[in-house]
Amino acid sequence: MKAYQEMNQDELKTLHQQLSKQYQDMKDLHLQLNMARGKPDFSQVELSMPMLDTINSHYDFSKQKDYCNYGILDGIDEAKKFFADMVETTPDQIIVYGNSSLTIMFDQISRGYTHGYLGNTPWCRLDKIKFLCPVPGYDRHFAITEHFGFEMIPIPMDDNGPDMDLVEKYVQEDESVKGIWCVPQYANPSGITYSDEVVERFAHLKPAAKDFRIFWDNAYVVHHLYNDKQSHVKDILKACQDAGHPDMVFEFCSTSKVTFPGAGVAAMATSMNNKKDTLKHMTVQSIGHDKLNQLRHAKYFQNFESLTEHMQKQADLLRPKFEMVIDIFEKELADLQIGTWTKPLGGYFITFEALQDCAKDIVQKCKEAGVILTDAGATFPYGKDPHDSIIRIAPSYPPLEELKQATDLFVLCVKLVSVEKLLEIR
Ligand code: PMP
Repeated sequence: MKAYQEMNQDELKTLHQQLSKQYQDMKDLHLQLNMARGKPDFSQVELSMPMLDTINSHYDFSKQKDYCNYGILDGIDEAKKFFADMVETTPDQIIVYGNSSLTIMFDQISRGYTHGYLGNTPWCRLDKIKFLCPVPGYDRHFAITEHFGFEMIPIPMDDNGPDMDLVEKYVQEDESVKGIWCVPQYANPSGITYSDEVVERFAHLKPAAKDFRIFWDNAYVVHHLYNDKQSHVKDILKACQDAGHPDMVFEFCSTSKVTFPGAGVAAMATSMNNKKDTLKHMTVQSIGHDKLNQLRHAKYFQNFESLTEHMQKQADLLRPKFEMVIDIFEKELADLQIGTWTKPLGGYFITFEALQDCAKDIVQKCKEAGVILTDAGATFPYGKDPHDSIIRIAPSYPPLEELKQATDLFVLCVKLVSVEKLLEIR
C-alpha cells in the first residue's frame, strides 16, 4: 500500500470515501469496549487467588501475634524483605504501607508541602514550586502535582530516558525545582527503561534546592513480557548513596499488578534519614497498616524465584495481547507513514504516535464508535500534548477477541483521521 503522503488529492478523496464507509459499518456494530486504563484482566488477577488461602482461621499466629494488632508502623519484616528483593535494596531502607503506592506518593508530596523534608522550609511557604515531568508520562503523577498547584515542566524523553542535559540545567540552576517524576523501568506509557548512564547522571545531580527529590516510581520493576528479552533499571538508591546524595530519592513500588490492584501492598524505599523523617509523620497519621495482607503476600511469595514464576504466568497472559495489537499495527499501518508505535518488553502500555494534530480526533472517532481510549493529551502535564500526536494504548484489560475489534477500529480511525488531515492541509 502506498504511503498516504505520496497520494494525490483524488486518491486521497477515494480513500476517504472507502474509509468512511468502513467506519460507518464499524459504528453499526455498536461496540462497547474500553482500552483506557492499564488494568489486568480477571484471568491475571485469578492467578493470585491461592494467596488468599495462605492465612486462614487455622493459621498459627503464636509467634506473630503482633501482626493481628495495631503497630509495626514500617511493616512486618517478611514484607520488608519481599520488597527489598523486588527493588534490590536492603530491608532496613523499606517502609511497607497499605494498598497503594500512589497514596504514598501523594503523602510524600503532601509532607514536603506542609512540613518540609528533613527540616527544610515547607513548600507551602514558598512562592513557587516546580516539578519536572518527563513526557509522555503517567497522568496520575501529573494530577498530584497539579493538585498542589506546582508548575509542571515537560521534559522530553528518548529511548534512554529523560533528556538529562535539560534535567541537569533545571535542577542545578533553579532552586524552585523540587522534584521530578520518573517511571524508570517499562515507563508508563512509552515502555522504555532508563539507561545506566541516565541513572548515574540522576545520582550525580547537584540540585540548587537542598530538598530536591527524585520520585522514582518503579511500578513495573518485575513486569517483563519476555523471559529472554528483559530490561533492568540500575538501582538508584545505591547509585545516589555512592554519589554522596543518599537522601535525594524516594522509590515506590507495589503489588497492584502482581496480585490484586486495590488489594495489594505498597512500599517506599529510601535513605535511613528520609525513612526516619517520614515515620515521624506517619506516627501521627496511622497506628499501622494491614499487616495481614503484608503477611499473605510474604507467605505466598516465599522467595524471589516464586515471584518471578508468578510474573511469568502474568506475562503469558499479557504477551499475546501486546503482540496482537502490534501485529495489526504492522500489517495495517507499517507502509502508510501515518504513525509509529512502541514495542515494549514489559509494563502495561503501547504508545502510538500519530501525525501531528490527529490524536484528539482519533480518540474522539474511536469513542463515537464505542471504543474508549485514554484521553489524548492525558500523558502530558495539564493534559496538553503540544503536537496532539500521542495516544496511550492499554491492551491488558479486554479479552483477546474484543481487543482485536478495538484495535481494528483504532487502526481504521487512524487512517480516516490522517486522510482527513492530509486533505485539509492540501
Ligand atoms: N505508578 C504507575 C506508573 C502506574 O502505572 C500505576 C498504575 N496504573 C500506579 C503507580 C498505581 O499504583 P498503585 O496501585 O500501587 O497505587
